[in-house]
Amino acid sequence: MTTTVLPVAGEDYPRTYQQFLKWFADDGACRKYLLRCRWQEGFRCPRCGEASEPWLTTRGHLHCRLCGHQVSATAGTIFEGTRISLQTWFSAMWFVTSQKDGASALGLKRVLGLGSYQTAWAWLHKLRRAMVRPGRDRLSGRIEVDETYVGGSEHGGKRGRGAERKEIVVIAVEVHSPKGFGRVRMRRIPNVAGSSLIPFICDVVEKRSEILTDGWGGYNGVSDMGYSHNPVLLSGTGDPAHVSMPGVHRVAALLKRWLLSTHQGSVSGKHLEYYLDEYTFRFNRRTSRSRGLLFYRLMQQAVATAPAPYRCIVGNNHNL
Ligand SMILES: [Zn+2]
Repeated sequence: MTTTVLPVAGEDYPRTYQQFLKWFADDGACRKYLLRCRWQEGFRCPRCGEASEPWLTTRGHLHCRLCGHQVSATAGTIFEGTRISLQTWFSAMWFVTSQKDGASALGLKRVLGLGSYQTAWAWLHKLRRAMVRPGRDRLSGRIEVDETYVGGSEHGGKRGRGAERKEIVVIAVEVHSPKGFGRVRMRRIPNVAGSSLIPFICDVVEKRSEILTDGWGGYNGVSDMGYSHNPVLLSGTGDPAHVSMPGVHRVAALLKRWLLSTHQGSVSGKHLEYYLDEYTFRFNRRTSRSRGLLFYRLMQQAVATAPAPYRCIVGNNHNL
């Protein structure tokens, strides 16, 4: 997919909730929309590559004119094998994207009338997997990088005692001049060694960008990796970290508040990375004026994201 035509409200995605209800009045309409998002440049048979318009079977499958291969609308997407209607899925996606802070599993269960908390919880995790676009752009320009500690007891200083039971999250934020922040990237890391910090920076930041960090030794190798490294020696300035690294500290505070409020802090370490993905999705689209556009972006990524069975979600440990 190379064309980048901007999606249009009211044509590519619903502008309002009223329009949403009208467009997705039944499962057939949802399936049509899903197919359109999945094959934006027209259907191509996954088996033989045929690009001519397929037949639509009565079961809602696409039937290749050339080889007879049948593809279900949901196979290979996060909706694969779902026993609940697509319409309910669409409602979940609208609910999750139309609220500034998203939804908790309990909130989703209630609003959709889902049978179990587990279903709601698993759905949110499936959606989170679709919130990170594979091959997304890297941050560029001026980037603050620092770690923060999530969960556990609030005592103990940074990188010091008391931090043991907390999860370590490294955050990179684009800082604009004279003020304001751009996009963020985050990752849960096992420790604050250079072997954790430097690969994160290389993965998420464009080379030749300016990297601002504190004086921690773990960042010493940054300039060897093709970046301009600007360590701020806090002890020299006498400023607390939130003064010299305002971007990262603002984002870290917002992230912690979001985990505590929307999710009541009940995020276990092995799932934290997916919450970071959701937070990143929301933060990087915070200025988007249309919630419908967020719904559309999530839909686009949902049809391009491999299915994750429940047992895989429960047992998954993202990257540690
Ligand atoms: Zn075919």
